[in-house]
Order: sequence, then structure tokens, then C-alpha cells
Amino acid sequence: MVFEKIFAFLMSVFIAVSASLATVFPERVPGYDGIAVPADAPNTLPVYEEGTEMLTLIADGASDYTIVYGADATHTEKLAAEELQRYLSQITGVTLPLSSDLADAKTHEILVGRTARAADAKITRPVADEDSYTIAVLGETLLIAGGETRGTLYGVYDFLQDFFGCRFFTPELEVVPQQRAAAIPKNTDAANAPAFYFRHTSWRSAYDTRWRSKLHLNATMSAGHGSVDESDTKLILFGAVPGHTMKDFVPPEVYFEPHPEYFMMTEDGRRDPTQLCYADPAVLALAKQTIAKWIAENPQANIFSVSQNDGHVSCHCPVCGVIDEAEGSPSGALLNFVNQAAVYADTLRPGVLIHTFAYQATERPPKTIRPAENVLVQLCSIGNNHSVPYTEGNPQFCEDVKTWAEISNHLILWDYGTTFSCFLTPFPDLKTLQPNAQMYLKNGAQGYFMQGNRDSKSAEFGELRAYLIAKLMWDPYMDFDKAMQEFLYYYYGPGCSNIEEYIKLIEANRREFFRVGSEKMEFVDLNVFDLAQAEAWFDACEAQTLDTAQLEHVQRSRLQVSWYKSAHLKAEFFPLNPGRVAENRKLHENLLKHNITYLHEASPMLEKPNYYKTAASWNQ
Ligand SMILES: [Zn+2]
Repeated sequence: MVFEKIFAFLMSVFIAVSASLATVFPERVPGYDGIAVPADAPNTLPVYEEGTEMLTLIADGASDYTIVYGADATHTEKLAAEELQRYLSQITGVTLPLSSDLADAKTHEILVGRTARAADAKITRPVADEDSYTIAVLGETLLIAGGETRGTLYGVYDFLQDFFGCRFFTPELEVVPQQRAAAIPKNTDAANAPAFYFRHTSWRSAYDTRWRSKLHLNATMSAGHGSVDESDTKLILFGAVPGHTMKDFVPPEVYFEPHPEYFMMTEDGRRDPTQLCYADPAVLALAKQTIAKWIAENPQANIFSVSQNDGHVSCHCPVCGVIDEAEGSPSGALLNFVNQAAVYADTLRPGVLIHTFAYQATERPPKTIRPAENVLVQLCSIGNNHSVPYTEGNPQFCEDVKTWAEISNHLILWDYGTTFSCFLTPFPDLKTLQPNAQMYLKNGAQGYFMQGNRDSKSAEFGELRAYLIAKLMWDPYMDFDKAMQEFLYYYYGPGCSNIEEYIKLIEANRREFFRVGSEKMEFVDLNVFDLAQAEAWFDACEAQTLDTAQLEHVQRSRLQVSWYKSAHLKAEFFPLNPGRVAENRKLHENLLKHNITYLHEASPMLEKPNYYKTAASWNQ
């Protein structure tokens, strides 16, 4: 016993000394929160060809470089200069001075954003609200400059990522490798622009304003989705309600009784409050009233939604029905209506976009009606098979993307990275994310929203998904496997190959067809042997993880295995096991311990679930 205690004490001293040494400039060793990680960690640092001429910005704890921003810099450009100063200080221990361009020019300057320096004129600058940027070395000067609204800030974060190996995995987990020197190739002249104009996800990570900038997510559809004002980068912002807005224009509880004619006619001639009738001029007048109010109340928003209610039915009245018949899709009558609203909105605020869904009944584009110039169409993949890339499993959807892109000035997508009916189910679609992003780009989409679990932390792979999807939205051809391996290592620790094995297992056992919204949990089939193997992998990963944050990540992610067993009555959750009720209680306690409070979209987990029932029924 005594020997063990002495040994443990000596080990703790050894670890503490190693850690404190490691925080003092380990030679090109990737760091994790300032503590060196084992040599098998993925190397995030760039590798240059031998003989590459380098421009040294900082060496041996000293530098004569100044970070310069414009005297009339935007809020974001100033923030970009400050972020560069902060991270270079973390990397090298040297804090470079910050100065505006009113100071006399020096030989050694890092110019951030638009400045009055001569070098600024030598780059092609995008318009202010574009997200592109240039990183260039001009003589002894380094220049990082792009669109003034967001581009320059994105340039700084990518500079830290590409030249110094920084990684911004989650709002809480960053890798900032420490180095004695900061140097970049003298021939650096890189222009970078996003593949998609509109980039947005509702995974929890993206609710952190600064992380969103680091990953270049630039849009939001919900007012609660982080900062939207001058305190940070301006976003492409939806005003008021972001979707399914017809019910806001004509609430059924107010109008259905006195005016059933405002609402859709079913195929057998009844009026039904699910959708509106788009042919009644009074309906358009009501919509205009609300649009005018929203535009007046939301001066910062640049998109307002005029979109169908949820559901897959449409109006069959003599007017709507005839239009839709001729157009080959219920998108005909809807678009006719949306176009009129869009023309009206433009008279109130020129340039404003009117958003509408191509969703369920209206997914197929109309034959001849065209969206007005300022209509933003958002096509939703709600009915798609997520088991294989859309090009393989959903050719009609891919055609629809292409056609909508051809006939619209503005087309974005609504895609799903989880099923909102059971967030904890293993959702084996990771392999499809990259081919789908590439298809969107090839077929002319201008961006997309990826729906995640916005309600609570993820016990599946939400943080990984948020990171990967943000990267894909910027560049669908990025090195997906490398990005995933780096994430898994730093998020789950040195035992992360076990998590990779688990991901492969659920992919190998996925259903041939699965789609979101299904309440039947028909996504993946795991037998008791698979589940025992999954638990063994998570055990092995836990055993190799020393970091408390990483341990929390492993323990939270493995809850999906327990949830699966409970929901499907397998292994220790088998009905005949007398311990099943106790296992359910333990699962519930573990979910709460890891802040998992939603198993189903917008429906909180019960405070006191019935432990005789499976975890699939614990929603309110
Ligand atoms: Zn109608």
C-alpha cells in the first residue's frame, strides 16, 4: 500500500513537472489547452518543402512586428486584429503591439483589414459583406484582409489554422500549438472564398457567437441564435419567424370559424385549417399587414419568411387546384402568392429577401411560374433516404435542387443531421455529409442549413457534426477524414480509435432506408453482440483518457448505446431482466448528469419518467 502511494505521488509529480515544462514552448508539439499531448497526436502543423524561404514574424521571444488596423476599421476588423494578437501571444508568448494606421508606417507590419498603407492597394478586395479574404506577404509586410463585415475575421482564424495548426473544435475545445517562432513562407499569396453564400446549423456549438465566426457560419434563422448586432460579426439574419409563417399571417384559431374560405380546400371539397387558400385576396392582404409590421420591427434582418405551414397537403380550390395542375406541383399556387408578397416587401425595403419553403407537397418546382427576383427558395430534404448519398438514394431530389437553382435567383437547402423524433439514436449518415455538400454545390445551391439538436447537448456526435458540417459549408472538398480524425483525437483522447470502430459498426449496420421524423427508430440494427462490443470500445476509450473534459465527452457519447438498448429492450434492458428498471433509472440519472434534457425536439425529457417504460417514451 505504502509503495503504491509513493509510486502514485511520484507519478503525479512527474506528470505535473512534464505539464509545466510542456507549457514552455515545446518544439512544434501540438498542445491541448497548453499541455503537451503524446507523440501520436495528429500533427496539425503545416509541413513545408525544404528550402522554403520564410518570413519570420516572431523568434525567440521577440519581434519588431506591429499589428496594424485601419483608423476607421469596422467592429469586425478591429476584433480580427485583437484576435490575431491574442492567439499569437498564446502560441509564442510574445504580445505584438496593436496600432491604427494613423501611426507612421514601419517596415515590419501585419496589416489586418482595410488600411491606408500602400500594400492594401495591391490586393483585390471583395465587397464589404462578402466572406472571402486574402493572406499575402508583400516584402516584409504580412497582409490579412477581406470583406469588412466578416471576411477579414475569417482570414485571421484561417491564418491561425493553416499556418500555426490551431483548431477550433468546439466553443470549449481549442488546440493552440505552442512554438518558439512564428514564421510563414515568403511566397504566401492565398485568396480564399466560401463555396456557399449561406452557412448555418443548429447544433449547440453554433449557438456560441465566437465559435461560429471561427468556423465561418454566417447566417441564422432564429432570433435566439446568439448575437446578431454590432457586438459581433453581422449575420445573414431572418426577421421575426423563420418558417411556416402562413399560420402567423392567418391564425386558424382567429379566422377559421368566420372565414373558412381563407383556408385550403381538401380534395373532397371541405375547408381545412392546415394550409391557406392562396387565391383569396383577403389572405394576401393579411399577409402584407404582418410583413409590413415585421419589416418595421426588425431593422437588422434582411430575410423575411412567407412559407407554407407544416404538413404535406395543399389547397384544391378551383383557383389553386387549376394552377397546381397546370404547373405539375402545388408549388405553383404557393409561388404565385409568395411572389406578390415579395414585390410588396421590396417597396417597403428595397433589397429585402422573401423566403419560402419547397417542402413536402411543394418540393417539386413549378413548370412555368418563376420565383420573383427577391424570393429565396429553401428546398427541404425531409423525405430523403439518409442511408446513402442523395445522388444514389434520392435522384429526384438532386434534380429538384438543380431545377430550383436554375429558375431561382436564390436557392438554399434545409438538411437534417439528426432525427428530431429521437436525438439519441445512432444516426449513421456521416459518410453522406461530404457527397451531399458536393452535390449541392454542383447543382447550383447557394448554401444550406443543417438541422441539429438545438435543445440540449448531444449524446450522439453533435459536436463532431457541427465541426464537420461547418467545414463542408466553406469547402465541400476539404479533407474530411483528416478533419474527423483530428476532432476525434482531441475530443475523445488517445483512445479515440475505439470511437472510430464504433462509428464504423453503426455504419455497417445501418438500415438501407431511413429518414428523419420516423418515430419507429428504424435507423440501425444492433444485436446484443454488437452492443457488447460497443460498450467494450467505450470502456477502452475511457481507460486511455486522462483528461476530465475528454472523459466527459466519452461518457456522454456512450449514452447513445444505453439509450439504444433501453429503447430496443436489449441486453440489460431486456424485459425479463429483473434489473431493467434499475438500469433505466441509472440511464435517466446519467442523462441528467451530462445535461441531456431533450430526447425529442421541443419536448423536454420528463422529470420523473416511468422506469418500467423504455427511454424512447420519456418525452413530455
Ligand atoms: Zn385555394
